[in-house]
Amino acid sequence: MNPLLETEKSLTEFDRLLQESVKIHGHLCAGQVLGVRMSMLGLREIGISDPKGADRKSLIVFVEMDRCATDAVQSVTGCSLGKRSMKFLDYGKMAATYLNTKTGKAMRIVAREDSRVKAKELFPEIENKYAGQLEAYKIMPDEELFDVTEVVVKVRPEDMPGRPMRRVQCDSCGEHVQDMREVYRDGKALCTPCASGGYYEVKASLFEVRYAEKP
Ligand SMILES: [Zn+2]
Ligand SMILES: [Zn+2]
Repeated sequence: MNPLLETEKSLTEFDRLLQESVKIHGHLCAGQVLGVRMSMLGLREIGISDPKGADRKSLIVFVEMDRCATDAVQSVTGCSLGKRSMKFLDYGKMAATYLNTKTGKAMRIVAREDSRVKAKELFPEIENKYAGQLEAYKIMPDEELFDVTEVVVKVRPEDMPGRPMRRVQCDSCGEHVQDMREVYRDGKALCTPCASGGYYEVKASLFEVRYAEKP
């Protein structure tokens, strides 16, 4: 095929995916460009061509940051927390791993730190650093933007999409815990906040607290 035509074709696909992710995310930013490019590369490398259609049950993505790019990853892959096809690891890294659950093939992609410098060199005339990065990330080759590593990811049965494997009532607060997230201590089943502290402190209850009796 004419290489120019090939480029135009992939540009169109990239533009279409970028537009879609900007719509979901709410604005165009360098993170959208990186997230879209990262996901196109990741999906291609694990052999997924129709992530929202025929391949939708063969894909899990692990994101290592809760930043702009995460929305782009969700938009391109169709994976989400609610579908359990997106896993969030709070590593604070601009990285994601794309797993084909049918073949087991998994690729971890990290945005290269030196791509920021190269982006600046590409568009020295653009004053705003972020605007320059945004334009540069659109055209830089994958190997300048990303490090790509083939990895092995083991997904526990309780982390897979599908129905919850079990529901257990916490012996302390009475709330129910699913997906085997309960903790056992001195013969008691506890939810994580009761076992090791949570992110909140109770101030007041709107309704009278009513616990269902254990069957
Ligand atoms: Zn953004
Ligand atoms: Zn509890």
